[in-house]
Amino acid sequence: MSTTDNALGSVELLPGSVRAAVLERDGGVRHLVEATFDPSVPGAVRDTLTDVVQRCFTFHRVTGIGVACPGLVDTVAGTVVSCYDLPELNDFPLTSVVSASGRAPAYVEHRARLQVLGDRWFGHGRGRREFASVSTGETLGVGLLYEGRIIAPPGGRSGAHMVVAADGEVCTCGATGCWRTVATSRWLRDAAARSGYAAGDLPTLTEMAEAGESRAAHLLDDYADNLALGLANIQQLFAPGRFILHGEARWAGPAFLDRIERRLRAVTAWNAEAEPPHVLVADVDEDDSTLLGAAGLVLSQAS
Ligand SMILES: [Zn+2]
Repeated sequence: MSTTDNALGSVELLPGSVRAAVLERDGGVRHLVEATFDPSVPGAVRDTLTDVVQRCFTFHRVTGIGVACPGLVDTVAGTVVSCYDLPELNDFPLTSVVSASGRAPAYVEHRARLQVLGDRWFGHGRGRREFASVSTGETLGVGLLYEGRIIAPPGGRSGAHMVVAADGEVCTCGATGCWRTVATSRWLRDAAARSGYAAGDLPTLTEMAEAGESRAAHLLDDYADNLALGLANIQQLFAPGRFILHGEARWAGPAFLDRIERRLRAVTAWNAEAEPPHVLVADVDEDDSTLLGAAGLVLSQAS
């Protein structure tokens, strides 16, 4: 056990589990404590959180602790406003509890938004002030860093429900033509099934396309085009220049990334000022991306 001055603290809270980690300044995980709890047991979330944070940080001093949390979060007050999956967290003083148990200042942010800070401090976004971090696969969304800060207005969302078609499939949100109806794993599976393929996952289709199967290649082209629809809107509005893909798209081949990139460059070809968009896959460990993001939150507070 060691005491170190400049290590970073990180906590990931999920409905049913808590992870806490001590990270090196380069993102390496030095110490990890995790535990599960039954969300239906009164007090379980607070007890587990306190216990895990104490066990993680008692013998490892950190400069600060970033907390990744589900639900609606007040980042200034450090509280959870409401959490549908963990109602016990409604009005919960999260940063106070973590700070007291972990003996360091604590900061909270919604977990989906933190991926961008993991990239900013430990991945392909290192040192940049503008870029987009994109979740692909079963979930879809974009985190944006703009002038060095996460764009996270109260009530803002991650882009999955931006409308990309005037008429199309009805989304789970009730609207028609949302981006997520055409650019998630579910869409790809359904499209593959309509083409007669038993397997509709991205790695399998990529293998088939690379082996010369033209229908699989067309499906992947359509999927890349659909992802590019939403990303083109982001590029039009914020010109982040760099798009870092997480999730399923990491397993697609270079042809898939090139196609998205060409689409994005086409919508900015008129603009000499904008950095030509570049699309690449994340280089941070996917399992640790939220913990890295929470550690990045500590670094961002100090920058
Ligand atoms: Zn929707």
